Amino acid sequence: MNMKKIIQELSPYIPEKPLQQLQEELGLEKIVRLSANENPYGTSPKVKEAVLNWNYDLSNRYPDSSAQELRNLVVEKFSLDPSQIVFGVGLDEVIVMLSRVFLQPGDEELVSVPTFSEYALHAEIEEAIIKKVATKENGQIDFSALLKNITAKTKLIWLCNPNNPTGTYETVSSIEKFVQQVPKETMVLVDEAYIDFVTEKTPATTMDLTKKYPNIVVMRTFSKAYGLANFRVGYAVFSSQVAGEVQKVRLPYNVSSIAQTAAIAAFKDQNFVEQVVAKNALERTKYEQFFQRLGLNFYHSQANFIFFETELAQDLAQTLLKSGYLLRTGLRPNWLRLSIGMPEDNIKIQQIIEDFFAKI
Ligand SMILES: *Cc1c(COP(=O)(O)O)cnc(C)c1O
Repeated sequence: MNMKKIIQELSPYIPEKPLQQLQEELGLEKIVRLSANENPYGTSPKVKEAVLNWNYDLSNRYPDSSAQELRNLVVEKFSLDPSQIVFGVGLDEVIVMLSRVFLQPGDEELVSVPTFSEYALHAEIEEAIIKKVATKENGQIDFSALLKNITAKTKLIWLCNPNNPTGTYETVSSIEKFVQQVPKETMVLVDEAYIDFVTEKTPATTMDLTKKYPNIVVMRTFSKAYGLANFRVGYAVFSSQVAGEVQKVRLPYNVSSIAQTAAIAAFKDQNFVEQVVAKNALERTKYEQFFQRLGLNFYHSQANFIFFETELAQDLAQTLLKSGYLLRTGLRPNWLRLSIGMPEDNIKIQQIIEDFFAKI
């Protein structure tokens, strides 16, 4: 079969086993998934109400292509122009659209690693060249190393902020300083999937920079702080001229009405998000103190997960799994990514980790 060569070379994405199956295999009653940075507190109770009240008789009709109501809410919150926003089926789809619009075979994109793997995956599919620049020792982005790697072929530079998996946060001023040194033809893409969890700096977001620099894009999702991972809603904010071009590749009815309804209800309940953020920040501090006490190396996190190092990463992950806690392995040898769970689970996890090291 004559499919694109690159597709034949790609290794398929292997999703996690369904929890139900994993539970049965391990003979466990319950597994708490702390490997996907989902929101353990769920979503706003207003979402359930809105979804159940959704007009089922509209099932045979296509959704509002422009997601007008949701768009207006986002516009209002960040003082944007409605034409600046493009919605996607999760932020994942936004990453696909951006790769499709900006990358031609042979173009280059820069990523600061370790980071979210989707950026490189879609660049590969577009037959672009991925240049990886290592983060600094403390997990922060090495902006000067990124600048040194820009060539005439560099189309995209991905900045994940806070970064997945390191959890580290870059300030608005450091990103602005960086954008000012990047050629105008090179797009700087700021993935703010976890920005709501930042408590160290306010405002944390680079959203305002989209009004000043035509080559910056800021991306958001409803999957994390808003707790709507199953509904698949994300968006990107561009300068108005660029957004118009990206709209051309968006599938016209990508975000379903139920998903729009859920996102609207979640977005209107900022109080719920604030509570989630506060609880997460408290638990995050406790984890950092715990890792410090145990002498384990970790990156300072401003997200809803912590990335930490131990030579016994595989054994520890296995021990936690046997107790019903699933962590993310395989992102870097000897490192584990742990999504911050509910307080009662965090206490248990810390006890299991402490006992694990006490036995060695
Ligand atoms: C989870 C995540 C996304 C994807 O979010 P969806 O909206 O669920 O597709 C994007 N970027 C990063 C860094 C993420 O961790």
